[in-house]
Amino acid sequence: MSDTRTLESRIWDVKATLGDRLVILGHHYQRDEVIQFADFRGDSLKLARDASRCTEAEYIVFCGVHFMAETAAILAQPGQTVLLPALEAGCFLADMANRQDVERAWRELGEIMDVEHEIMPITYVNSTAELKAFCGDHGGLVCTSSNAQAALTWALARRPRVLFFPDQHLARNTGKRMGIPLDDMQLWDFTEPLGGLDSDTARQTRLFLWNGWCNVHWRFTPQMVTAWRERMSDIRVIVHPECPMEVVDLADEAGSTSYIIQRIEESPPGAHWAIGTEFNLVNRLKSEHPDQFIESLSPGPSSCRTMNMITLGNLAAVVEGLVAGQLIHPITVPEDIAHSARIALERMLEVGR
Ligand code: SF4
Repeated sequence: MSDTRTLESRIWDVKATLGDRLVILGHHYQRDEVIQFADFRGDSLKLARDASRCTEAEYIVFCGVHFMAETAAILAQPGQTVLLPALEAGCFLADMANRQDVERAWRELGEIMDVEHEIMPITYVNSTAELKAFCGDHGGLVCTSSNAQAALTWALARRPRVLFFPDQHLARNTGKRMGIPLDDMQLWDFTEPLGGLDSDTARQTRLFLWNGWCNVHWRFTPQMVTAWRERMSDIRVIVHPECPMEVVDLADEAGSTSYIIQRIEESPPGAHWAIGTEFNLVNRLKSEHPDQFIESLSPGPSSCRTMNMITLGNLAAVVEGLVAGQLIHPITVPEDIAHSARIALERMLEVGR
């Protein structure tokens, strides 16, 4: 038997042995060889909520990146343990905002305005538990790429300004879609005092865009859209809102990973798509819908390096550890942080889509 077949059969054996005591979660961006073991597939928040409803599950193995496992740990039931097969699987975007820099931004803005009444903090779900907790502590909330507009609308109905982190592109694309003029949105350069703004500009800003980006989605360019249109006149371009504004503006549609999947699933045979998101998902859509023409918007692979750190080998090691009574790579969040983060997540659930 090949090494791959051996690893696969070892993982199937553990699943059979542990039954409902084990839930494996697979993010859409995982490789096929890994996602075949997922009891649930989806985006990070859906998966965390799916797992927390599995009351029989003692172990939740998250095939995704670190912030996702943290979110699952925050929402887990008492007695459930969340594990991440590769501890080094972080997220480039989530790592672009840390609590120290966000607290400094809050302090500096607090010197020129009453931040607790004038600025609402919103963190994209792709962020550390500490930043979710920061939002919970300061009246703010979490958002996903599906509900960013609902979250921004909710926030701006309560305070005149929003500090949105860590993804500038999701914030800008959402603000623009809501009709906020570009001049009312300012990039917050967290390496500079007052984000690199003068105090007059900061006072006139409605939406502060943290200078962070996803290492996969920022690589899509307007030229790629143009090239596809020249090659195929009836191509529909669909992209994720973590892509730069110039790409979203040229695309036919933009939406979350779930939205992209839904659009492909409801399309008729013969539809032509160029998709601007992570490569593993595009390839899976391509193989699941052979009656449609589906390609990546990018000519080269648009892979997420850290998502691909989850392998058959480290998944097998983690699940076999459970049978042997070992917790390999458990992810925990201190209860005070989890409590505040839950508040920000609950506010998001109240806001809805
Ligand atoms: S695709 Fe982007 S946002 Fe998602 S895990 Fe990778 S780096 Fe983070």
